[in-house]
Amino acid sequence: MIDLPLVIGDGRRPAAGLAVRNPARPAEVVGYAPVAGPGDVDAAVRSAHAAAGGWGALPWEGRAARLRDAADLLAADQAEWSRLLVRETGKTHAEAAMELARTTRRFRQTADLADAGADVGYPDSITLRAPYGVAALIVPWNWPLSILAAKLPQALLAGNTAVIKPSPLAPLTTLLFAQRLATLLTPGVVNAVSGAAETGADLVGHPLVGRIDFTGSTATGRLVAALAAPHLTPLTLELGGNDAAIVRSDADLGEPALRRLARAAYAAAGQVCMAVKRLYVHRSVYREVVDGLRDVLAETVVGDGLAPDSTMGPVITAAARDRITGLLGTVGDATVHRLGRARDRAEFDRGHFLLPSLVTGIGQDAPLVQQEQFGPALPVLPFDTDDEAVALAGDTRYGLSASIWSTDLDRAAVLARRLRVGTVYLNGHGPAAQDDHAPFGGTRDSGYGRQLGRTGVLGFTAEQTITTWKDRP
Ligand code: NAD
Repeated sequence: MIDLPLVIGDGRRPAAGLAVRNPARPAEVVGYAPVAGPGDVDAAVRSAHAAAGGWGALPWEGRAARLRDAADLLAADQAEWSRLLVRETGKTHAEAAMELARTTRRFRQTADLADAGADVGYPDSITLRAPYGVAALIVPWNWPLSILAAKLPQALLAGNTAVIKPSPLAPLTTLLFAQRLATLLTPGVVNAVSGAAETGADLVGHPLVGRIDFTGSTATGRLVAALAAPHLTPLTLELGGNDAAIVRSDADLGEPALRRLARAAYAAAGQVCMAVKRLYVHRSVYREVVDGLRDVLAETVVGDGLAPDSTMGPVITAAARDRITGLLGTVGDATVHRLGRARDRAEFDRGHFLLPSLVTGIGQDAPLVQQEQFGPALPVLPFDTDDEAVALAGDTRYGLSASIWSTDLDRAAVLARRLRVGTVYLNGHGPAAQDDHAPFGGTRDSGYGRQLGRTGVLGFTAEQTITTWKDRP
């Protein structure tokens, strides 16, 4: 059991404790995190503000070197980090290992972008890339470290200091990482305040915050945009998704491809913003795809992520499990195929576990199709033409990502341009398919702004032009 402090400057502040529970064993408290009140949030922002001048004045290469040191922090105690991630999020060890590898890679790749800050010259002007000052970085519970790694190294490389706000459901790994980072970097450069919605709201509304990067649900994103409005604080909103995968009749349906598709939908028990959440399959191969996915999913072993034989963990809370079960209860005449097996029946009954399910015979208007289910339940619908597939995929308010599965890459690329989403994957989908060098973000209810790559770094800068006097006609 760990009991962590807030991370404010290089000091520590006691605050009321927030119990963090293991979703595989809800009776088990993994540790305690403080609840930051308005005074704590103010202290954290002021600590970041005081450090911003010095950090922002360092050369980009100097800050990049510190990011490489930060990456080494995680690369060191892999087993310790993995265990804590598994216990607070419920994911499996393999998924935690992937998250840690991604996080480390994102810090290093960002450090390699130090030349992004170069001045641009014009005949009578130069344009600099200036930091905003204090960046408020708000993360959800599902991939706490790797989502942080799409904000924090970018904000720091660009010369901002940071106040991190982790989710109350899984704050421990993030707090521990922030604590170690704070001792590695100049005091005040990295701060972290845990707590629930109120803590996030205090942070977002603080007048000394110069930039906000928020990842979470669409409902919370709307609140964050409203809270940022009085100070016109610029923000990125990475919100929910309801990603469609389109399987054309000419798709490769070999076992590796079907395993890739299953992983894209069910990794982390479907609790991934860019998971496949709706599957559209050409009618000519519908039966083959459903049967193939059923065979793959039949191998799923649902259990505590710490057990080496578990291939899928629990969902995060009892409320999440009930919401997904509720959506499955609204499918009417559709067929719910529950697949895989519980590793241990008593363990399954105690934790927030669900078997992975495929739903066939379901209509486009069903809540399971229209809403973000964020769990291991995938509706599969047939289509007859590419036009119909594009229309069905676009029939949602979300616009995070989508995928097209086809051996005709030219045709797939043409279809990709017709989908109003931030990323289209070809023959893959989700975190395993993502190219971290390229910009990532959503449209419509999935938010706005872009993370990762050069765009992600430059998004944490405001261009400043310095123009020399000249008589102009
Ligand atoms: P959430 O919106 O409940 O919480 C996200 C964070 O916002 C938490 O730290 C929370 O404490 C904080 N928060 C809550 N109310 C706030 C307020 N009023 N002001 C400021 N902060 C506030 O989301 P969640 O349940 O933790 O995460 C799941 C959701 O996140 C899903 O919808 C998922 O699709 C989405 N998500 C999106 C991405 C992406 O990159 N687009 C990535 C991961 C998850």
